[in-house]
Amino acid sequence: MVELKTDTSIDAMREAGRIVAQALTAAREAAAVGVSLRDLDRAARTVLDEAAAGSPFLNYRPSWAPVPFPAVICTSVNDAIVHGIPDGYRLRDGDLVSVDCGAIRDGWVGDAAVSFTVGRARAEDVRLIRTAEDALDAGIAAAVVGNRIGDIAHAIGRVCRSAGYGIPDGFGGHGIGRTMHEDPGVPNEGRPGRGMPLRHGMVIAIEPMVIGGGTDDHYTANDGWTIRTSDGSRASHAEHTVAITDSGPRILTAL
Ligand code: MG
Ligand code: MG
Repeated sequence: MVELKTDTSIDAMREAGRIVAQALTAAREAAAVGVSLRDLDRAARTVLDEAAAGSPFLNYRPSWAPVPFPAVICTSVNDAIVHGIPDGYRLRDGDLVSVDCGAIRDGWVGDAAVSFTVGRARAEDVRLIRTAEDALDAGIAAAVVGNRIGDIAHAIGRVCRSAGYGIPDGFGGHGIGRTMHEDPGVPNEGRPGRGMPLRHGMVIAIEPMVIGGGTDDHYTANDGWTIRTSDGSRASHAEHTVAITDSGPRILTAL
């Protein structure tokens, strides 16, 4: 069931989203060659603590997870697509890092992700990151009243496929509100004109993921969380929480 949010609730979600943006910025600014993924988590955690915000990631344990998630961000490096656990790994020159973060403020949740390189960037990584961002922009542009979920999915998929990239099946965006994952699901590929009609007050997380090698295949690593590309190629992820309104899409996780 899709819960439509009031304008007042959307304003409250914006405050949660702003904290997510600040935490992602802190994690990104902390990232450098030699810095550990745990240091990035610490930087994000400081932002959440100072904003008196909770984390929907910390101790999150869906039915399939062997252990509760131990951090406030996911850090997915190189062939990791999503859900990487921040550990003692120290970033190396040329690494491609995706950071995903959530925050809870006044009972409302925000969720966003960003990808970037550390040190000297490879040209192919810059293109991969830009494509995920372009797909996110296209998905947001399609998140308008009168469209359907399939229009968002189609917009995202078209950008990723025309760049020649793979799209990991089984992963995508979601409704969001009092909890991190609500209806409807927002696939990263689909048919225009299909699926649920978009209405004023729907709030969704839109989150394209692209696989550089061009296949869609992935596997879960031994830690039970990290999703990696099967071909070992690099992946990129971009995400915003977006409110669908009569005056157009409103990005809630911008700075
Ligand atoms: Mg996320
Ligand atoms: Mg999400």
